[in-house]
Amino acid sequence: MAQQSFKTAIIGAGTIGLYLAWKLSQQGHKVTVFEKKSNTSGKVCSGLISDRINDFIDIPSECIIKEIGKCQINFGKTKVNLKFSPIHYLIDRDLLNQHLLKLAQDSGAKIYFKHDVTQEDFSFFDKIIGCDGALSKTRKILKLPDPPMKLGVQFFLNDKDQSQIVQTWPAKQGFFWRIPGRDKIEYGAMGDPHSIVADLKEFCKKQGLDISKINMEAAFIPSGIVMPISQRFALCGDAAGMTKPWSGGGVVWGLKAAQMLLNEFPDFKRYRTNAISFYKPMIDKGNLMLNLVLWFGQNAPFLLPRNVVRDNDFPIV
Ligand SMILES: Cc1cc2nc3c(=O)[nH]c(=O)nc-3n(C[C@H](O)[C@H](O)[C@H](O)COP(=O)(O)OP(=O)(O)OC[C@H]3O[C@@H](n4cnc5c(N)ncnc54)[C@H](O)[C@@H]3O)c2cc1C
Repeated sequence: MAQQSFKTAIIGAGTIGLYLAWKLSQQGHKVTVFEKKSNTSGKVCSGLISDRINDFIDIPSECIIKEIGKCQINFGKTKVNLKFSPIHYLIDRDLLNQHLLKLAQDSGAKIYFKHDVTQEDFSFFDKIIGCDGALSKTRKILKLPDPPMKLGVQFFLNDKDQSQIVQTWPAKQGFFWRIPGRDKIEYGAMGDPHSIVADLKEFCKKQGLDISKINMEAAFIPSGIVMPISQRFALCGDAAGMTKPWSGGGVVWGLKAAQMLLNEFPDFKRYRTNAISFYKPMIDKGNLMLNLVLWFGQNAPFLLPRNVVRDNDFPIV
């Protein structure tokens, strides 16, 4: 039980908002979650997440679609094999969020769906945490700038592939991917919001994929830390720009940041300082590394190692 209980609003019932709602309710705080959609489903995401997720949430086996051990990066004539350490899983994001919703509700958090948050809602709370994703309204209300954005696009083809290897190909400022699911194969891309959809269509043509009847889904991927200097307001997850520049993955990064917030709660300024000093260098180095790998892949692929073991969450870069 918390020494002092804070009336806390969490904006957004995505993975990060629900995780915080669960943990803060467990600590005895009075937590209210506002979610603008009618449920927690339908997140545009590949669900490729490392085993580190188990450090935060005991993942029920039904959430795991399959294990993914490697990523093959295809640079024209050269291929780089990246072994994930720790191993990754393909995770059903809808089931994960349903699991977290139950944990949060069972711990006493109140969740209001179909509630697009407004500034007036904030007046009832001691603490407000914006976990409302890439286009965060909380961030806008606080008049903070948007972090740099890429666009992530994905679609699925009905096909079977038992392999446990993700394939990627370089794109302008990002990459294309192919992820073998259980009975579907996901293709997608991350890159410049203005051109990535056209680039993905061109890539599919070159790969001989028939995409005439498919629906593509897209969502922004923010990368670059944005946080208020405040003891009353905090941002976490995509709302704060916490995704890996080299992959767009944000679940483990968001959960780690949420854990930092929990460690410092109710001191939001200390959370901000700790999160910025942890993530900012990783984002800067990650952007540099992505550009270097893309450059070498295009201009001097023979200099790249063929086999690499990589911590894909928190590499020493
Ligand atoms: C194509 C694509 C593929 C990806 N693949 C991966 C991957 O393989 N692995 C990985 O780790 N990450 C991946 N990501 C990133 C990952 O999906 C995000 O980093 C993660 O979902 C962020 O979680 P979150 O809880 O911060 O935000 P979200 O999951 O976006 O949740 C935000 C919630 O806030 C709600 N909301 C928004 N505005 C309001 C409002 N005004 N009022 C109330 N509620 C509001 C939204 O409806 C939503 O439910 C991918 C992203 C994309 C686009």
